[in-house]
Amino acid sequence: MIFPLKTPEFLKKCVSGCVWDIVTDKKEIFLTFDDGPIPEMTPFVLDLLDRHSAKATFFWVGENVRRYPHIAREVVARGHSIGNHTYNHLKGWETANDRYLENIDLCDKAIEEVTGVRTKLFRPPHGRIKPSQLKAVLPDRRVVMWDVLTADYDASLSSAKCLKKSCRITDAGSLVVFHDSLKARKNLLKVLPAYMKFFKNKGFCFSALPCWCN
Ligand SMILES: [Zn+2]
Repeated sequence: MIFPLKTPEFLKKCVSGCVWDIVTDKKEIFLTFDDGPIPEMTPFVLDLLDRHSAKATFFWVGENVRRYPHIAREVVARGHSIGNHTYNHLKGWETANDRYLENIDLCDKAIEEVTGVRTKLFRPPHGRIKPSQLKAVLPDRRVVMWDVLTADYDASLSSAKCLKKSCRITDAGSLVVFHDSLKARKNLLKVLPAYMKFFKNKGFCFSALPCWCN
């Protein structure tokens, strides 16, 4: 079982050049949703965000963007930020550099053709990227990692534990990973509403990442 995890400071320093959290003097949290867009989950997330007047950042898998263009366009229409999460959700450690970089470009193309958005935000699937791949993508992109991994995708983790620990390890400026994926469904449907309510009651707001788009 995986528990919600706070990224240790030494790792943030070790893997430099990536965005791990956001420096802010406001009570604000940066929610991110990986692996969508899909009809079973993304509309639920969008409606919940709207109810809290919240903005977030979605890291998309290109093949889902092609499969569900109407949902992708809806996310953009509602004012959220978009990032690239490769076309086929590839693990960088297990993928040759050429194929990996091509797959990222393919995702860019899908996002731009479907929504008109040209994004510079990139998150490597599973957080796994070789140093050589990182070096290749960094000049043109913002590589966005995270400060809080909610582990919502682990169905063996109870929603109560997922919620409690995710709340405990979130600070102002945290970049928080949730998933609008089927794997995360069991936890996300329960945890996300309660998590947002918890921080709303404490006076926090939810912001999209500054759009390093052109
Ligand atoms: Zn992913």
